[in-house]
Order: sequence, then C-alpha cells, then structure tokens
Amino acid sequence: MTINENEIAKLVQSVLAEMSGGAVSKPQAAPAKPAGANAGNIPATAKVAVLTGLEKVEIKEYPIPELGDDDILVKVEGCGVCGTDAHEYKRDPFGLIPVVLGHEGTGEIVKMGKNVKVDSAGKPLGIGDKVVTCMIFKDNPDITMFDLNKQNVGGADVYGLIPDDDVHLNGWFADYILVRGGSTVFNVSDLDLDSRILIEPCAVLIHAVERAKTTGILKFNSRVVVQGCGPIGLICIAVLRTMGIENIVAVDGNEQRLAFAKRMGADNTVNYNNFKGIDALAGAVKDAFGGYLSDFAFQCTGSPVAHSNIYKFIRSGGGLCELGFFINGGDATINPHFDICAKEITTVGSWVYTLRDYATTFDFLKRANAIGLPMKELITHKYGLDEINEAFQTNLAQAGLKIAVVNK
Ligand SMILES: [Zn+2]
Repeated sequence: MTINENEIAKLVQSVLAEMSGGAVSKPQAAPAKPAGANAGNIPATAKVAVLTGLEKVEIKEYPIPELGDDDILVKVEGCGVCGTDAHEYKRDPFGLIPVVLGHEGTGEIVKMGKNVKVDSAGKPLGIGDKVVTCMIFKDNPDITMFDLNKQNVGGADVYGLIPDDDVHLNGWFADYILVRGGSTVFNVSDLDLDSRILIEPCAVLIHAVERAKTTGILKFNSRVVVQGCGPIGLICIAVLRTMGIENIVAVDGNEQRLAFAKRMGADNTVNYNNFKGIDALAGAVKDAFGGYLSDFAFQCTGSPVAHSNIYKFIRSGGGLCELGFFINGGDATINPHFDICAKEITTVGSWVYTLRDYATTFDFLKRANAIGLPMKELITHKYGLDEINEAFQTNLAQAGLKIAVVNK
C-alpha cells in the first residue's frame, strides 16, 4: 500500500481534529478578540519550501503544531534570498538538506503562548504585531547579551539554516513559521514590509561600521572608499550617508550598480574595467577624491584580487574594514611592507552582527527612509512561494540586487 503526502497530512489533520483541547489547527483556537487581521483564520496546515536536493525546492504541507507557552506562530509575509541560501541551494556546503531555508524573513504574529509578553528588546508583543527573528535559543551569554561589545551571533542557530525536524516550520520560505521559546524576536511593526525584509542584510553593515569606528579613523569628513556595489556595498554607502559621511567613492565593474551607488549617496564612482593595472586604478580613485587617497575603505566583494587591491586606495595612517569574505573565498596576496607596515594601516574584520546591532538596524532604516535613500529599490525581484526555484535561479544568475519571496 502506498500513501502519498497529502493523504498523510489529511490523516494527521483528522487525528488533530479529534483531539480535544489541543486543536491548535482550528480557527476557534485563536484568542477571542484577535487584534491582527490574520489571527482569526489559522489553517490546519502550513506550506513550507523544502530544499530536498541540489537546486530542487519542493513545496510541502505540514500540520501546524501545537504551540508551547513560550512559542509564537507567525504568518510569513516575505523573506529575502541571501547569498548563503543560494550557496546552500547550489552545493549544500553546510550539509543541511533537507532544510527549509530563508533567514531574512518577517511576518505577523497570529498566535502566541501565554508566557510571551515582550520582545528581546523589552517592547510589548501582541497578536497582529510584525516581527523578525535574529537567532535561536539563549544558550551562550556571550552571544545573546544585548551588548555591543559581545561576540557576534555567528555561532548561533538561525531560522532558515537548521536541518528539518518534526516541527518542519523552521525557515522563512513558508507561509507560517513557528518561533520557539528562547528565540530572539523583535517587534518591528513600525517598519513597512520591504524595510523589514532588508533588516538582516542591513544589520551586517551596521556591525561593519561599528567595527570601523573602533579604529578611530572614521570621521564625519573622512574620504571613504566602498569597493563592491552589490547589496552589501550599496547598504554600506547608505549607512555611511545616514551618519553624515558625504565624501564617498564607490568602486565596481558594473555601470548600473555604480549609478545606484550614486543615488545611495556616493559622491563619485570608479569603474575598474576602465583602468588597466592597479596603479591606474588607484590613480582613478585618487582623482575621484580630488587628488587624495582615502582615509578609510570598506571591502565589500568576495574577490581575493579586490582585497589585494584595496590597500592601494588608502592613505598612510588610514583604515580598512574587510567584510566581503562572508564565506571562504580563497587566499589573497598582499605586500606586508608596502600595504600595512610602511603605511601604518589599521585593519578590522567584520562578520555578521551582534544582537545589539540588530536592534540598531531598525532605527537606521527609519533614518535612511527619512532622508530619501532608495532602500526599497534594492529589492529588484519579488516571487511567490510557488516560484521559489525561479527566485534562487535569479539570485544565482546575479540578475538584479536583492531577490525576495513574498506571500500574497
Ligand atoms: Zn543572510
């Protein structure tokens, strides 16, 4: 006898329906006076996009589990596709298959356990509130303390990057996600959907700029180079711009991206394709600053050559923040004498963010929107959940900037 998945789901539903008290899947299980528009009609099952093999995502339907007293059920509104997701889709480097991906997600609370009262920053939480998650399970105080000086969240589990289990609702590429007790969750109801989808990548830049500030070199009137104008470099320019730093030169090989960099706040741009050799390129950067090298540089590409080059754009006594190598992109060659010692360059590395940076990001997005930076135009493509394979392919083809999956 063969039973397909739909039949199994129906069986599970009927068993759940027979259970008295624990009928979480029934609409009437929602609070008596739901504040949120979606709270009154929670379905019995959720759709989740499961990466079942390389370049293969299947939409599966699972029963929405019963909520614990500390859990939150969120109806997903949208989720950005990250480079990490694309790597996992293409090659499974983290060995997570089968997995429900999507960590740049946001949605609306439709049901909460009775112990849930406030978010991770102490802000009240209720049905209908819009939320994002940062990481799962408070088991490492060095990561989870709400302190700028603590370790980044790199060692923590994140929704959308944990292997499938019997809950299944573990990633944001879905129509519902179950946020388990102990997760960090933030009430971001005062941000629109597109801004909320951009929170996670923006937090990467808030952290990088905080790291850059520790050098003491980054000032209001600094000349700053941003190398690489993908989403990360473009957001880097936006963060600098909202801080009042105006003398920014963007370096990239794509004219469209350079044009966007200008709209994001870059004063001048350099297309590296127009210059042969590093001396000519460094000369172009110098010209773009009116005859000066930069005081500070942000390296936002994953290219080893770009890392080698960037030292040549920095003045003696200047600073560098390297944040492009989110994953291992190989070794880069530098000349320690010319590039670091003789020029006395101060370098910092940056990777992911701290819990505190995550919360700082919400205010950054409000400032960026308020001064008219085209943040939302970073999201160049939107796909429905059932079109998720196309969303990944678009990301892999490096068409556009930020690709998002949005539920209708
Ligand atoms: Zn990401």
